[in-house]
Amino acid sequence: MNGEVIGIDRENAYRYMGFREPFSENVDMKTAETADKCEAELLKTARPKFIWRVFNILRSGEDVFLDGCDFMLSGNDIKKHLSGCEKAAIVCSTLSADCDKFIAKMSVRGALEMLVSDALASAFIEQISDSAIKDLTEKNKGFTATWVFGAGYGDFPLEILPKLIAAADAERKIGVSTTAANTLIPTKSIVGIAGLSREMQNVSVKSCDNCNMRDRCEFRKKGEVCG
Ligand code: SF4
Repeated sequence: MNGEVIGIDRENAYRYMGFREPFSENVDMKTAETADKCEAELLKTARPKFIWRVFNILRSGEDVFLDGCDFMLSGNDIKKHLSGCEKAAIVCSTLSADCDKFIAKMSVRGALEMLVSDALASAFIEQISDSAIKDLTEKNKGFTATWVFGAGYGDFPLEILPKLIAAADAERKIGVSTTAANTLIPTKSIVGIAGLSREMQNVSVKSCDNCNMRDRCEFRKKGEVCG
């Protein structure tokens, strides 16, 4: 494994389950115990991996490209995210097909097990994506990196996923691919772009539009937001 994680960010996972802070008061005992068991199993089962590949950014008027790639980075949000950056990395992270099998197994055990394991895996894959960024900056001395802006976030089209995966050779290297409908396989994967600059940039703020949980968020189902 690359991106050593010894514990899953439990607070993030509780947020993804739909709990509000303070978690010590709001999370019931049964959920906390289920989370303990699921976390231990998930850490044993998942095989986290990441890769990244750095490109020079080319700009032509309003259009933004990665040097050597035959596609444009379309959408205003990714342009804003890369504003002031001279390089960009395609960053791909995954928890492996074994994680999908684990969540499927938990869903047979019960609704709580499924909710908890899905939320833990979502928090876990974000940690692996953060590990990828840490590795990226350690190996590109003098640069700071933005967080990973995923395909499908904001107006950055999901349809670019196969192109990003191919450009990073992520299918061969870490087993990440997409369905015809651009769903990532394994499902607990993040594929996107991080900007690299010699100075810290004012990057776009995380919001529901660019949150990994936006399609199945317990808060959004109720018309609310976390935090
Ligand atoms: S989708 Fe929005 S409300 Fe839900 S966890 Fe993400 S940022 Fe919070």
